[in-house]
Amino acid sequence: MRNQLKHYINGEWIESTGSETIEVINPATEEVLGKISSGTEEDLDKAVKAARDAFPSFSRSTKEERIQWLKKIAEGYEARKEELIETMTDELGAPLSVSEEVHYHMGLGHFKQAVESLEDFSFSEDRGGHTLIKESVGVSGLITPWNFPTNQTSTKIASAIAAGSPVILKPASKTPYAAMILAEIIDEAGLPKGAFNLVNGTGSVIGNGISSHPDIDFVSFTGSGSVGEKIMKNAAETIKKVALELGGKSPVIVLDDADVEEAAKTALSNIMTNTGQVCSAGTRVFIPQSMKDSFEKKIVDLLPTFLVGDPRKEGIATGPLVSKDQWDTVQSYIEKGEKEATLLAGGTGKPEGLETGYYAKPTIFTDVSNDSVIAQEEIFGPVTTIITYENLEEAIDMANDTVYGLAGYVVGKDPETVRYVASSIKAGRIKINDAKTDFNGPFGGYKQSGIGREWGDFGIEEFLEIKSVHGMPSS
Ligand code: NAD
Repeated sequence: MRNQLKHYINGEWIESTGSETIEVINPATEEVLGKISSGTEEDLDKAVKAARDAFPSFSRSTKEERIQWLKKIAEGYEARKEELIETMTDELGAPLSVSEEVHYHMGLGHFKQAVESLEDFSFSEDRGGHTLIKESVGVSGLITPWNFPTNQTSTKIASAIAAGSPVILKPASKTPYAAMILAEIIDEAGLPKGAFNLVNGTGSVIGNGISSHPDIDFVSFTGSGSVGEKIMKNAAETIKKVALELGGKSPVIVLDDADVEEAAKTALSNIMTNTGQVCSAGTRVFIPQSMKDSFEKKIVDLLPTFLVGDPRKEGIATGPLVSKDQWDTVQSYIEKGEKEATLLAGGTGKPEGLETGYYAKPTIFTDVSNDSVIAQEEIFGPVTTIITYENLEEAIDMANDTVYGLAGYVVGKDPETVRYVASSIKAGRIKINDAKTDFNGPFGGYKQSGIGREWGDFGIEEFLEIKSVHGMPSS
C-alpha cells in the first residue's frame, strides 16, 4: 500500500495538520493503490508563507543558477525513469509504452526546453526611451489535472523556476504520486527552501484556497472549464493574474487530396492515445463527402490495430479511463450519440474480457451533425465523430463553430491549401499531418479553451511581470 501522507513544504516533507485522507485507485484493477493526505487551509498557509519567504532571494537568483537547478532536475528525472513510468501506469492506467513515450518524455522535455529557452532569454532590454525589465510575477499557485501527471506539472514548474517564481503545487488527487516523485527530485536539486512546495488535497479546499489566497499573486490552472470559471471568479477578489488551460473539441480537417489511411490513423490516434483523455484531442473529423465510404471502411479496419487492455501488457495501445466517474460520463455521451448519429463501431458497456477496470469501447460515430451534443461537448474518452463537408469553406466554418479553440489538425497534401486551412482554424495549436511536437511551441487556447500560454519561452513569460524603467543610469 502506497500511503504517502506528507506534504512538501519549505524544503521538507511534513505531516498534514489534518487527519483526512484521499484514496488513490488503480483504474486498471479498481484496487486502492494507497492514500494521500487531504490537506487543510493551515497546510496551504504554511506553504504560502514558505513561498513568500523564499521570494526575495529566489526572484533575484541569476539565470545561471536557474539553469543549474533545471539541469539537475532533468538529470534526477532521468535517473528515476522506470519509477515514473510504473507510477503513471498504476495511477492513470496508461499503457507502459504510453507512460514512457508520451508522459515521461513530455515531462522531461519541459525541463530541457526551459534550460534552452533561458539560455536565450533576456530579462532586461534597452528600448531607447526606457529599459524593459521582466521579473518574477510572485508567489504562484499551480493546480493540475490527472490526465498528464508529469506533463502538466513539469511545464508549470519548469517555467516558474526559469522565471524565479516560488510555487505551491496542488496535483490532481487521482494521480498524485508522479508529482510527489517530482517533488523528491526537486528536493535533491538544491533549490532554496520554500521555492517549491507541494500540498495534496481536494479542489474545494486546496484548489479553492489557492485561487482566493491573498498572498498568492498568480494562479496557473489546467483543468475543466467549469473549475476554470470558479478560479477566475475567486481570483477577481484579489485581482490575481490567472492562466487557464481548459478543455477542447478540436477539429481534424481532412483535405480531399489526403491519403485515406493517414487520415484514419490520425483520427484514431487522437482518441486512442491516453484513452482519449487529452484536452487537445481532435474529436471532430471533417471529411469530404466524396471520401465518406472509403474513410469509414478504413477507420473501422484500423480500429483493432489499437489494442485495448491491461496497461501492463506488451502491445497494448489504450488502457482504461481514469475513474468510475469518467467511465460513467463517457457512457452517457455514447448513449446520447446513439440517439443523435449512426454508430459505426463500439458503443456502451465494457469491451469483452475487460469487465474489471474502467475500460470503455472505442467508439466511432458517423453521420454526425456539428451542432449535436457529441460534436460540441468534450467527452474525454475514446469517442470520435465523423462529419462530412461539401466544400472547404463549409468545413472551416463548422470547425470553428465551437466554444473551444485549443487545437486543430490538418491532413492533406497541397501546400497552399494546407497553409490556408491552418491559418483559418481559430485555435492555439495546429498540427499538420505527422509533424513532430516542438517543446518551444506555445500551448494554450482561444475562446473557452483558456487564457495564456504554456511551454518554452511563452510559458516563462506567464510567470513574469513587466516593468518599464525610464531614466535608468547605465551600469
Ligand atoms: P478538473 O477541473 O476537475 O480538476 C483540475 C484540478 O482542479 C484538480 O487538481 C482539481 O482538484 C482542482 N479543482 C477542482 N475543483 C476546484 C476548485 N473549486 N478550485 C480550484 N481547483 C479545483 O479537471 P480534471 O477532471 O482533473 O481534468 C480534465 C479537464 O482538464 C478536461 O476538461 C480537460 O480538457 C482539461 N485539460 C486541459 C488541458 C489544457 O492544457 N488545455 C490539459 C489537460 C486537461
